[in-house]
Amino acid sequence: MTLAQRPFVLIVEDEPGIAELLKYNLDKEGFRTTVSANGEDALLIAEEQTPHLILLDWMLPHISGLEVCRQLRRSTKLKDIPIIMLTARGEESDRVRGLNSGADDYIVKPFSPTELVARVRAVLRRTSPILSEEVLRFGNVVMDLASHRVRRASRDIHLGPTEFRLLRHFLQHPGRVFSREQLLDLVWGHDVYVELRTVDVHIRRLRKALNEDGDEDLIRTVRSAGYAIDIKAA
Ligand code: CA
Repeated sequence: MTLAQRPFVLIVEDEPGIAELLKYNLDKEGFRTTVSANGEDALLIAEEQTPHLILLDWMLPHISGLEVCRQLRRSTKLKDIPIIMLTARGEESDRVRGLNSGADDYIVKPFSPTELVARVRAVLRRTSPILSEEVLRFGNVVMDLASHRVRRASRDIHLGPTEFRLLRHFLQHPGRVFSREQLLDLVWGHDVYVELRTVDVHIRRLRKALNEDGDEDLIRTVRSAGYAIDIKAA
């Protein structure tokens, strides 16, 4: 799993208007989405693309949402994907059936988009904590992990993928000094052979991007020790 991944939600809904509403609201909130109008396609897409979460309508043509849910739960590969059932039925007995069949949550139509997004985030927080740290802040730097955007004050900061991961790492551990060896391990990964001075190159790029307007330098170089995001500057 790459860092700062956008959560991928599979929407299974046969009513185009509702599917569009779901997609629009989730896309707007930084999710990646795919829509399937029936259960058969949904199972194929789930198999091929392993979504982080499935929004599953109860009433679908051919195979019902409930049956799709049961089939997902029986699959070794797909059984852990969280499922939120969507339904027009609000009766308690249906809710119980839905949850018994393996759904993680249950949303009754009509739903408010805000509530829907909150429920999706809540389920993801439980099941994929790595995806739910949505915003990291340090001083006037804000990193939105969902939309992959970084801002400093009101300015958009454009970072390459390595600089993004470096900054994310610093923002998760403000004030802590990391050696170049540690950064290589933590940001590049154990299996990659990269020279130590590569770290310096990317730190320089990160600094340049962050400090474009002559702002205070947030990255502290600690002689013979490594780098940190500077707590004093916050
Ligand atoms: Ca339906």
